[in-house]
Amino acid sequence: MTDTVARMPDRKRIALVAHDERKQDLLEWCKFNRGTLSLHELCGTGTTATIIANALGLEVTPLKSGPLGGDQQLGAKIVQSEIDVLIFFWDPLGTHPHDPDVRALLRVATMQNIPVAPNRSTADFILSSPLMREPYDRHVYDYEMRLKRERIVEQVHLPTK
Ligand code: PGA
Repeated sequence: MTDTVARMPDRKRIALVAHDERKQDLLEWCKFNRGTLSLHELCGTGTTATIIANALGLEVTPLKSGPLGGDQQLGAKIVQSEIDVLIFFWDPLGTHPHDPDVRALLRVATMQNIPVAPNRSTADFILSSPLMREPYDRHVYDYEMRLKRERIVEQVHLPTK
């Protein structure tokens, strides 16, 4: 498999998201790690970003609220290599109107090979990694090869008379 490499900068672009039942947990984690988080570039889904920015005075760029398309916006940013780390405290007990968007977000994060923290201990391990403070070459698997999309391009054409 031929991978491509996307370089993550030393100042990471971190996305913060939490389902309603996990927002308190994420806020407390952000408070504990405020100093470290302030060294990075932060964004988040609308409500999560606003809560963290208001409570901690951190600059967190807000996207749309999750149920209104914010998770899809984040997914698009990940595909465009504009996000290096996804901290997403999701609720394992709840169902949400935007569950398909959440699934899609987690899917592209896996596909793009970025670190994802679904809970506090994973977030601790990620944030304390030395790799957070230096550039990192992230390998992106060549799924395009596997899907053989070029073959489809060659096969589909208008019929000649
Ligand atoms: P929110 O979205 O930060 O706007 O509440 C989070 C989510 O995906 O539920």
